[in-house]
Amino acid sequence: MTDCIFCKIAHGEIPSKKVYDDAHVIAFLDINPANPGHTLVVPKKHSEDLTTIAEADLTKAIEVAKKIAIKLRENLHAEGVNIVQNNGRAAGQLVPHIHFHVIPRFQGDNVVITYQKVQISEQEMDGICAKLREEHRPAPPKRDLDLEF
Ligand code: AMP
Ligand code: ZN
Repeated sequence: MTDCIFCKIAHGEIPSKKVYDDAHVIAFLDINPANPGHTLVVPKKHSEDLTTIAEADLTKAIEVAKKIAIKLRENLHAEGVNIVQNNGRAAGQLVPHIHFHVIPRFQGDNVVITYQKVQISEQEMDGICAKLREEHRPAPPKRDLDLEF
């Protein structure tokens, strides 16, 4: 992707505070960290998010996220680590190139990762459960495509 900021970082076209680099994955400090040591783990091959990345690329990235989490614990003395991974604008994804936030946590720090709980009836839960257990069904072909010929 020519216009993707994380592709440019991955290819060394724009600078970053690199903490890890191999053939498939790069990790660098987030420019706006939640805490000191907040690192982004980024597969070098462009995929937009978790729903489209190839399994092999995902595996390599999560393995690097684990290495970074261990470094944060051992070298920066983090007491905990959050892995945050946003998919889609509605979920807060600003950069449309998949990445994992690896955020060191300390007792009493000011990081807030939370959500408001919603009330869902048991019947609604059962309906959601049934839908999520269904096999994926491809959408039917669009009618207007037929009309073009
Ligand atoms: P997200 O909202 O999950 O897409 O997160 C994107 C993250 O990328 C934000 O936390 C930004 O601070 C970070 N970011 C954007 N541009 C850069 C950059 N050039 N170097 C380091 N981090 C960046
Ligand atoms: Zn990209």
